Amino acid sequence: HMKLIILGAPGSGKGTSATVIREKYSLAHISTGDLFRYNIKEQTKLGIEAKSYIDRGALVPDDVTIRMVADRLGNDDCKSGYILDGFPRTTAQAKALDELLAKTGDKIDAVIHVITDDDIIMDRVTTRRVCEKCGASFNVKYMPSKVEGVCDVCGGKTVMRSDDNPETVGKRLETYKENTRPLIDFYNARGIIVEGNNNVDSATCIKSIEDGLARLNLN
Ligand code: ADP
Ligand code: ZN
Repeated sequence: HMKLIILGAPGSGKGTSATVIREKYSLAHISTGDLFRYNIKEQTKLGIEAKSYIDRGALVPDDVTIRMVADRLGNDDCKSGYILDGFPRTTAQAKALDELLAKTGDKIDAVIHVITDDDIIMDRVTTRRVCEKCGASFNVKYMPSKVEGVCDVCGGKTVMRSDDNPETVGKRLETYKENTRPLIDFYNARGIIVEGNNNVDSATCIKSIEDGLARLNLN
């Protein structure tokens, strides 16, 4: 019943690492970005509100985000453990999560920190493409789909995310440094940070994450 958080700058590759870790340990994958994008696609009230923040590289307000996550954590699939991807992103969110978990006597077992340099992020994110239908991720420069514009997994259309343009990516990196990076110290004080460096490739990054989890006796 492992409960993990994965932290890293936007475009650091935390989503890719989260997917591998989630499969290895059979965890539910809770991505707040994916939850927001789903709501935007379905044009729910939440989605319409979230879109205005997301498109300018800002954070969706804490109360909205916290409620969405609290609701998601109540799903049955979370009972056998989960990895939170994109949450918490602010100190207020981290404290709200602690309080929520405390109600059931639970706690976060480890926080994975994915480290990637800004120039590498800018290059990877602005060349990223995602499938409209299944969310699979490709990259026109480094991991192209077999047929340009078509998803290898489901045949859906691959597109650029509306927040993956250089200007918004720059804003997202600033937002990350200001609001989210302080969380590294917050969790470091508990001695539960596990690091992976994603500057070279995701296999190297995932290997050090797995070693780190083993060091915390979590495998
Ligand atoms: P990335 O990590 O690559 O920026 P995500 O898919 O995790 O992408 O998030 C996309 C956007 O969704 C963020 O830029 C932000 O506007 C919003 N968002 C995601 N998670 C949160 C959160 N925990 N709190 C507030 N806003 C969030
Ligand atoms: Zn697809």
